[in-house]
Amino acid sequence: MRVVITGAGPCGAALAVALSRNGTAVALVEAAQDFARNFRGEALMPSGFQALQQLGLAPIPESVPQRALGGWRVAVEGHELFRAAEPLEGPGNLPCTLVSQTAWLESLLAERNRPASLTLHRGRPVADLQRDARGRVCGVVLTDGEHLAADLVVGCDGRSSLLRRKAGIALGAAERPIDVLWFRFAAAAEPLPDQDFTTLVGPEGLASLFTSAEGLVQLGWAISPGSPTPRHTATEWIARLRTQAPQVLASWLQRNGHHLGEPVRFSVQVGLAERWWQPGLLLLGDAAHPMSPVRAQGINMALRDAAVAAQALLELASAGPNSKEAIDQALARIEAARRPEVALLQALQAEELERAERLERTPFLRRLLAGFAPLVGHAAGQVWRLQQKRLRHGISTLNPRQ
Ligand SMILES: Cc1cc2nc3c(=O)[nH]c(=O)nc-3n(C[C@H](O)[C@H](O)[C@H](O)COP(=O)(O)OP(=O)(O)OC[C@H]3O[C@@H](n4cnc5c(N)ncnc54)[C@H](O)[C@@H]3O)c2cc1C
Repeated sequence: MRVVITGAGPCGAALAVALSRNGTAVALVEAAQDFARNFRGEALMPSGFQALQQLGLAPIPESVPQRALGGWRVAVEGHELFRAAEPLEGPGNLPCTLVSQTAWLESLLAERNRPASLTLHRGRPVADLQRDARGRVCGVVLTDGEHLAADLVVGCDGRSSLLRRKAGIALGAAERPIDVLWFRFAAAAEPLPDQDFTTLVGPEGLASLFTSAEGLVQLGWAISPGSPTPRHTATEWIARLRTQAPQVLASWLQRNGHHLGEPVRFSVQVGLAERWWQPGLLLLGDAAHPMSPVRAQGINMALRDAAVAAQALLELASAGPNSKEAIDQALARIEAARRPEVALLQALQAEELERAERLERTPFLRRLLAGFAPLVGHAAGQVWRLQQKRLRHGISTLNPRQ
């Protein structure tokens, strides 16, 4: 079976390596020359580690910058409501871990690590799908005009997937996108007071701070979709944030505010493709289901898609030469195995966002929680932990035979 995979993000790269290590001929086509994209999510949950294990890609090499998250903090109007330490399931379990996605992809696809049956086309965007006389997808056309023939084309080309659009597959989109301003502090900033992911809710909105795998402090700030980007200086942004930060963090912000960079705005459309396959074509990862950034699910779901697809396709390949019908039946099985988990986790992400936004919209509730934080914080933390279980572990088995 010849497979063309479009997009070398976590989904496409992991699937390409897993298939080609087992002898399948794979062409992996990536539009960009390198993986240093402006922003790549980097939190891996236990669900993502389970997928890496099944793909044969664990552990992540030590040369790739990575660090375990210390915990999750929520503060309301400057008062800490609760802190949940990682691993949430207790010592000995896998913590949520920040992994430099750029370095991981570079290492995974480095020439010295690449299986012989994997060909990487970097800096060569796919421009179109190729179909045979019966309309079945049978390859891709690159922007430089080259055609790559395939028995199966896999679209792992991210949230704005060209392949999804060329195939005419509609995206059932969430009602409104989530708009986020993303800031980085310069490397010269002091380390944050802790290794946690801290969410601040207050009259200035909803913002989160953490230190990336590579040691840079990052700040995400949710803003109303479609609203103009506020034109603030670094000092003004920091002054706004300090009003709703607990004392230790507020002092850090005061000392390090001058290291804050210009924000980049993301408009994140969440959605679920009406179907994930057509004869000869399979969509996976964000191409099939653009994920919200809430509680770091996108890479994890992309890797879990890759793990299920790799297993189904390798089983097929091991049965000998495959008919087109047999390939397409496998595509239907892959979608059936993955869709329920993705749909549920998108709904849980939306619920988590709605809870945070309700708090943001309701000053009375915020003041109540802030005033009684020492009394209600523990219970609020316990409820939050329970809500996280499926967001950390997923709901489905990756191996349908287990
Ligand atoms: C602000 C923000 C924060 C996030 N934080 C996290 C987080 O902490 N943890 C987490 O799990 N998820 C996070 N996510 C989500 C996560 O980044 C994505 O869900 C994940 O990267 C999806 O992986 P993918 O392989 O499907 O697609 P992508 O990572 O988007 O990769 C797609 C690849 O396809 C390539 N491509 C596109 N078009 C073409 C073409 N025509 N031809 C060839 N190649 C093409 C692109 O260059 C890219 O390399 C976050 C998202 C946002 C927006």
